[in-house]
Amino acid sequence: MAAQTPVPGCREHRGLGFVYVCKTCNNDLICMDCVVGRHNKHDLVKLTEFVSEQTRQIQQYEDKLSKSDIPKVESDIKENEENFKESSKEFRQIINDIKHHGEEMKKEIDLLTDRLVKLCRNLEKMNEEIKEKNKNVLTKYLTEELRPQLDKCQRVRTFGTNNDAKALAKEIRNTGPTTPPLVTT
Ligand SMILES: [Zn+2]
Ligand SMILES: [Zn+2]
Repeated sequence: MAAQTPVPGCREHRGLGFVYVCKTCNNDLICMDCVVGRHNKHDLVKLTEFVSEQTRQIQQYEDKLSKSDIPKVESDIKENEENFKESSKEFRQIINDIKHHGEEMKKEIDLLTDRLVKLCRNLEKMNEEIKEKNKNVLTKYLTEELRPQLDKCQRVRTFGTNNDAKALAKEIRNTGPTTPPLVTT
């Protein structure tokens, strides 16, 4: 503080040093002469008391910093770190869950794809079987009914008697063409 270093005193009274502090004048340092001079009846405090009060306040602030403010912030930093670790753990868990569910969904999609492909192949096979059956039916109809009928007509027309032709024409009128029993899906 100013009082502890050799100072000449206030501007008006050089060499007298400082003895008081004037509260009224914004903590101005004043000398013995100023007490009865321009600071007469002002609110004065002894410089030593003022200094020890300032020191006490600084000490108090130091205590507050070291015992309360700093530990609080240190604890906040630590807590923040722990919260981060905790939430990191949660994020890892969520990511694992997402991956796990993704794998499950892929398996289900693969399974469903296999089923649909299998179903489609079965349908194709059934279709093939129907086609085969119809081919057989039509072939049978062709070889066992239509071609023999054609043969018969040609035979009657070429070699038959009039009566044969008449009978055949009547037969044709009465029966008409039949359609084979085709299989549909
Ligand atoms: Zn003075
Ligand atoms: Zn004053």
